[in-house]
Amino acid sequence: MRASFGLTFFLVAAGALASTNWDAAGNSWWAHVQFLADDKLEGRNVGSAGYETAADYVVSEFQHAGLEAGAKDGYSQSVGFTKATLDEAKSKLTLTGGGMPLEVKLGDDALITSSMNVAGVDAPLVFAGYGLDIPEANYSDLKGEGLKGAIAVYLAGGPVNIATELKSHHSSGSERAAAMKAAGVIGTISIPNPRSMDIPWARQSANRLLPRMSLSDPAFAPQAAIEFTATWNPEKADLLFEGSGHSIQEILSAADSGQPLPHFRLSRLLEARVAVTQEKVESRNIVGLRPGSDPSLKNQSVIISAHLDHLGVGEKINGDGIFNGAMDDASGIASVIEIARTLKAGKVKTKRSVVFLAVTGEEKGLLGSNYFAQFPTAPGRLVADINMDMFLPLFPLRYLEVQGLNESTLGDDIRVAAKTANVIVQADKDPNANRFIRSDQYSFIRRGVPALAFKFGWLPGSPEEKIYRDWYRDRYHAVGDDLSQPVDLKAAAQFDAILVSLIERIANAPQAPQWKPDSFFRQFAK
Ligand SMILES: [Zn+2]
Repeated sequence: MRASFGLTFFLVAAGALASTNWDAAGNSWWAHVQFLADDKLEGRNVGSAGYETAADYVVSEFQHAGLEAGAKDGYSQSVGFTKATLDEAKSKLTLTGGGMPLEVKLGDDALITSSMNVAGVDAPLVFAGYGLDIPEANYSDLKGEGLKGAIAVYLAGGPVNIATELKSHHSSGSERAAAMKAAGVIGTISIPNPRSMDIPWARQSANRLLPRMSLSDPAFAPQAAIEFTATWNPEKADLLFEGSGHSIQEILSAADSGQPLPHFRLSRLLEARVAVTQEKVESRNIVGLRPGSDPSLKNQSVIISAHLDHLGVGEKINGDGIFNGAMDDASGIASVIEIARTLKAGKVKTKRSVVFLAVTGEEKGLLGSNYFAQFPTAPGRLVADINMDMFLPLFPLRYLEVQGLNESTLGDDIRVAAKTANVIVQADKDPNANRFIRSDQYSFIRRGVPALAFKFGWLPGSPEEKIYRDWYRDRYHAVGDDLSQPVDLKAAAQFDAILVSLIERIANAPQAPQWKPDSFFRQFAK
């Protein structure tokens, strides 16, 4: 049954691909990016007027694409947030113990990332390796009494011999907070490894006063929140290690050569005072529905998602302070819209329902998708999430990197869809960057729903690798992710076409997608 289905699919898809005008399709895709990443939308921050304009645009495009309203009242699902803004002038970190007290230079030396007011923390510092607790791999940095009442200092990343997905899961904010809390830790300081730092320190520092947000619905009250959290500049980390007999160089060399990291108490203590103001903010997810045609399978929903929010407006750099977020993630929203239009134009009927989802609050911690996954307005059961977040169409599409490729049968589906278009599928090449848990697909994965996410692929040492890496260095979460950057529009349209094939395949298959028997994430499926 499956084989003959595959053959029909192949013929239909190959026919559709051969007749597509890629330039026109690319321009149509780019027009959405141009609207959403215009300076007028001011970076589409959660709760801003620019975000509302973007949301209205998506509603109208969903209507044109023939999608039904997919939320309870129309196309919008409202989501409530608590916004926390750091008052840096009233906040202070001081290294005490072992000599003269040293005031930490906020921005240069460290960034406070707490969302809560912190008064009177004065605690010993303990270096705890990667700060991870991974029971499945029999690995723990958090054993022993030394961490009780202490601030744990750790290097971001994880041991090379532990599977990426496992490490990624346990590095997520909520898992880490729970493990730290269980170890009695009262605060954490993470030191990024310069080798896997996506955003250079200067830019992290420039963005440090952007507000943080959390979901205000009580269903999301954190199980275990760590009161004090900070990130330390790796170039200034020896301020922490002074007098301990260890250095950041020693720790980075151990990490980079795959050696175990040391665990030790630092000679300094940290005094922290953090002032945060909180306010309520409303935003919304946009949901469009293409109901399934099969009387029973229409009660299963395939989600096609991307995030509509971005970082808003920050400090001006060379006269520009607007984070346009053209690739991050106007590009993904443009693809969600184009995929819906293509299905309408082809009068495609799918047995399962397909839900088109533009979420808010991704940049604040996958919040809009988390809300939707907790309170879905889709018909019946969610069976898959296909997420697009800056898939980076910066050069021709020959390779497609797929996160989650080997975790579920969705990996087999994307292999078929890509092969039909002569595109070679690659697994995640940069596992330490934790991309599988860093976008909205993870909100679904955590609830047992198989998912995929994508990046344009490349071969190591190729010019495409350089373009890709330069993009992260120069444009990721920077004002340069705007409409003036070079983008391969034709390749973006070809990507959309592969996604259309993939979605048809998933939405029509006799069986719903399944986790692979050896997938770590299978445990989340009920
Ligand atoms: Zn982003």
